[in-house]
Amino acid sequence: MRRLKSKSRQFRKERRSLEVQEIGLLEKWIEYGKPDPGSNPLSFPSLPKESPVGRINENQFSRYVGCELFRQLPLSKKTKDGLKGSSYIKMTDIQRASLPHSLCGRDILGAAKTGSGKTLAFVIPILEKLHRMRWGPEDGVGSIIISPTRELASQLFDVLNSVGKYHGFSAGLLIGGRRGMDTEKERVNELNILVCTPGRLLQHMDETPNFECSELQVLVLDEADRILDIGFKKALNAIVSQLPKQRQTLLFSATQTKSVQDLARLSLKDPEYLSVHEDAITATPQKLQETAMVVPLDQKLDLLWSFIKAHLTSTILVFLTSRKQVKFVFEAFKKLHPGIPLKCLHGKMNQEKRLGTYSQFCGTCAVLFSTDVSSRGLDFDKAVDWVVQVDCPADVATYIHRVGRTARYDTAGRSILFLEPSEVKMLEKLKTAKIPIKSTKVNENRLQPVSALLASLLVKFPDMQHLARRAFITYLKAIHKEKDKEIFDVMKLPIEEFSASLGLPMTPKIRFLNRKIEVKNVTKTTTTLELDNSSAFEILPEILPTAADNKSKEDKSSEDLLTQGSFCEAKRDLIEIESLAPATRVLKKKKLKINVHRPVGTRVVFDEDGHALPPLATLADRNNGDSSPQIDVDKVQGRYEMMRQKLEEEDQEDKLQARRLRKEKRMKKKMKWQREKLEEEEDDELSGSVGEEEDAAAAAGRSSKKQKLYFVDTDSAAEKQDKKSGWDINPDTISVAEQEALALRLLGSMHS
Ligand code: ADP
Ligand code: MG
Repeated sequence: MRRLKSKSRQFRKERRSLEVQEIGLLEKWIEYGKPDPGSNPLSFPSLPKESPVGRINENQFSRYVGCELFRQLPLSKKTKDGLKGSSYIKMTDIQRASLPHSLCGRDILGAAKTGSGKTLAFVIPILEKLHRMRWGPEDGVGSIIISPTRELASQLFDVLNSVGKYHGFSAGLLIGGRRGMDTEKERVNELNILVCTPGRLLQHMDETPNFECSELQVLVLDEADRILDIGFKKALNAIVSQLPKQRQTLLFSATQTKSVQDLARLSLKDPEYLSVHEDAITATPQKLQETAMVVPLDQKLDLLWSFIKAHLTSTILVFLTSRKQVKFVFEAFKKLHPGIPLKCLHGKMNQEKRLGTYSQFCGTCAVLFSTDVSSRGLDFDKAVDWVVQVDCPADVATYIHRVGRTARYDTAGRSILFLEPSEVKMLEKLKTAKIPIKSTKVNENRLQPVSALLASLLVKFPDMQHLARRAFITYLKAIHKEKDKEIFDVMKLPIEEFSASLGLPMTPKIRFLNRKIEVKNVTKTTTTLELDNSSAFEILPEILPTAADNKSKEDKSSEDLLTQGSFCEAKRDLIEIESLAPATRVLKKKKLKINVHRPVGTRVVFDEDGHALPPLATLADRNNGDSSPQIDVDKVQGRYEMMRQKLEEEDQEDKLQARRLRKEKRMKKKMKWQREKLEEEEDDELSGSVGEEEDAAAAAGRSSKKQKLYFVDTDSAAEKQDKKSGWDINPDTISVAEQEALALRLLGSMHS
């Protein structure tokens, strides 16, 4: 037994010394073969095939030129075995270009098309650096990989585990939404490599006692442009401020940031910018076939339904703008049984369900409806046949990432983009960004209309009506909020037809649009009033038409959508001001000035001959014949009594009036509060359409109170409120008359 023990000790000792030897050799190899800063081994594509590795020509030599296999790199046996075990033999372009630089510790800004193997380009240098430093459990966190979404983090964690399986590092997946934060807290200090979302990492930095990153060696941002984006800005700044400046930083994305500000935030040191496909003819994978179809908004679901029915043996990933759209289309299509499994993925699903859906979708014939939560980085086992973008992406980068879910590595894939006629400018933008997209016409004969089916579905399942309404509103709101106004204009959309296409019996009220219009009207009126106050009255008639004429183009277009009521009100405001102004002017001119020297506040009364009388002299008894009139005290008292009564009456009226006004104000406040609550919900739906926002928000340090609110089910809260008050009115669909009735009832309830 003792002999056995000593043998194993001996064996461990030998292994350790071999490892030390290997590390020494690797370090020498790396040091000796350091590529020149700014060089790219792929810059010599015309080298003859039989040319030895490293030889450029007779006089030039560069260690990594011509290296195509992982085994030709200065990598440890453990990493090489891990790569071989996962069948990674030949390097992809981004791996060939970046690994020589990253292995010798340089900061990297790597840009390469979607599906081109960027993950290994940062996983390998992490493993190697920590291995060469002989990093152990007691050394704590040596590397952090940050991903914008939980699914991507989980995928990166899997790659790290499979390639790094022969290393002894401990790695942890820290993503939000999972229970077990307490267990994580206990173990996080023992981990060497963290794969995380920004929110969860910051949560640990804030809450976990003794959480230490001071020895961090390598920081990686996958989908770097997204993480450096405004949504994660606060979180990332907070994270970076707690990391040591002396570290290696690797940034990778298909749409890389070049912003000096961003790079300064991360304090990169002479980063190597390696954009391997910059000179490529196309910005998207070569084996990807891209198509665009111009289709009116109200026919999009017909087209999607027809498409799904025609591709029942494919794996299809469908992108929609908002979470509510995803929910509605998924639920509705599921009830219509298209003949292919349907799934949905969005940021508000619970974590287990999200990861479950993601792994179930990989490698099956199914349709996955998703928000942009799936647009970044996900590999889906290279199995997606089609990417269908039902709604236009926010920008070219989003397009590139969405279509990048198919045609990964060396597989082929296809994508379709549905464009509303008002969004066709997107096509130009895509083509300018080197995206080879072809436009095709919709074959109307093959369209299978689904709107009628949806309408009857909504009758059969009244719950679906609410979903449809939310889908309708959140879509319009998203378009309204889009930054690129050249492409997105909510005023140009066929709103009524769109509502009908979702099967809705009535077009829901679009509050945010009406409010925008109201605000505009108010601004117009105030401008006129300001001019009125500050300028001479004489120029008023000229100002009024000018102010009316000066309506911006935007105003004009919004008038198309204005309800008749609000436009008439705006006009009426102007007319009232016009008719009031001349009257004021006449009055002012005719003002008489009497006895300017009399004390302020004295009342002057004249007798029939025009003489001024002392106060109350008219009440004197003139029949007593005295030259100096005597005051009749009874008459005065009577007069006072009458005035007192009159005042009391007026007082009573005033009180009533004030009470009424108070009630109205309270009721308005209540309605506003209800409206805001609904709008908050809409905003919530929109912002939540991208799951990572959740992490970002948490990271930005929202108060727990606010977070709690964020998760309140406002739909059911509103319903409960309605039920409690015994009203059956849905605030989404009520007409003006119904709103008035509601207001009266509210008034009545307050009164009682
Ligand atoms: P990206 O991050 O550039 O979008 P990934 O790193 O997710 O791409 O890789 C895309 C696919 O290519 C993955 O399925 C991965 O397993 C595969 N892959 C990456 N590198 C190699 C390689 N050298 N050899 C074979 N397959 C690879
Ligand atoms: Mg990736």
